[in-house]
Amino acid sequence: MARWREFLPVTDATPFISLNEGSTPLIHSPKLSARVGRGCEVFIKYEGLNPTGSFKDRGMTMALSKAVEAGSQAVICASTGNTSAAAAAYAARAGVACIVLLPAGKIAFGKLAQAFMYGAKVVAIEGNFDDALRLVREIGETEPIAIVNSINPFRLEGQKTASFEIIEVLGDAPDIHVLPVGNAGNISAYWMGYREFHKLGRATKLPKMTGFQAAGSAPIFYGKVVEKPDTIATAIRIGNPASWDMANAAIRDSGGSIDIVTDAEILFAQQWLAANEGIFVEPASAASIAGLFKCLGSAPCATCPFPQIAEGSKIVCTVTGHGLKDPDIAREQCGSVIPAKADKTEILRLIAG
Ligand SMILES: *Cc1c(COP(=O)(O)O)cnc(C)c1O
Repeated sequence: MARWREFLPVTDATPFISLNEGSTPLIHSPKLSARVGRGCEVFIKYEGLNPTGSFKDRGMTMALSKAVEAGSQAVICASTGNTSAAAAAYAARAGVACIVLLPAGKIAFGKLAQAFMYGAKVVAIEGNFDDALRLVREIGETEPIAIVNSINPFRLEGQKTASFEIIEVLGDAPDIHVLPVGNAGNISAYWMGYREFHKLGRATKLPKMTGFQAAGSAPIFYGKVVEKPDTIATAIRIGNPASWDMANAAIRDSGGSIDIVTDAEILFAQQWLAANEGIFVEPASAASIAGLFKCLGSAPCATCPFPQIAEGSKIVCTVTGHGLKDPDIAREQCGSVIPAKADKTEILRLIAG
């Protein structure tokens, strides 16, 4: 990400705490393109290929760089999982302590394993993500510990670089950008990045920002706080998003939309993407693909940009995190293994059946 230095709030005095995050592939999807039709092309921004397996690394390289620059010896975050994995890794890289506050029992196992292995102090609270974030804010007020949640403005500055990369690859901004929305930092960051490059003349247009929340935790869609958010997509299980206003502005100003997808739609999209395009993502990430399917189906939301889509439009779907983050969800969905003797004839009989 250091190659975007001139667009980031860094100086020569800022140490770049980096694990070579960013520059993730933008993968063309022939099957999704065919589904959209009209000569449109769909691309998947595969953020699961960042060093800790999610886009959170883009923000965390900035947050840790700025925290170290300011002399912090410790960082803290509330997390649905991926923020803690990223914070723990970059804190380890920087040589500072990391404390993560998790909602007890609601974290995908891969993410928890990462926080432990990177050496973070992991505290599981009785409460949800929103409670954890409130506590982090309170601790940040009195203790000399840097907050590295997305309320830390440097996080979004780092995350906006994904838009730069998309413009770089496509030669312009896409027409529509579809992504999952949880705490709403990412949709805000992408919009920041797109506007910045548009202003500099590096893109001739701006995409319609099209966000999807899980039906059981959709405060932005419903326009009110969800007290007990519920979804299998734990990374977007958030009832009171920190970047709510910014996300609304991005959706409104871009002519985009915000809609919901059910857990069943998310799980279907997750499996579809793995089995049809070879891209394995965690459930929250599949919300963008589920959302694309919804846009193309019979019941898109009132402001869905797809019904008016121009011929040859380019659509980017961000898939935010790697499928291996949440092995339990995958296991629940998978078929069972086929037991067999170590015998060729039997194996051939079984695989033919
Ligand atoms: C954090 C996260 C999201 C949600 O992003 P926000 O910026 O909170 O809206 C979605 N998917 C994954 C995998 C994440 O880690």
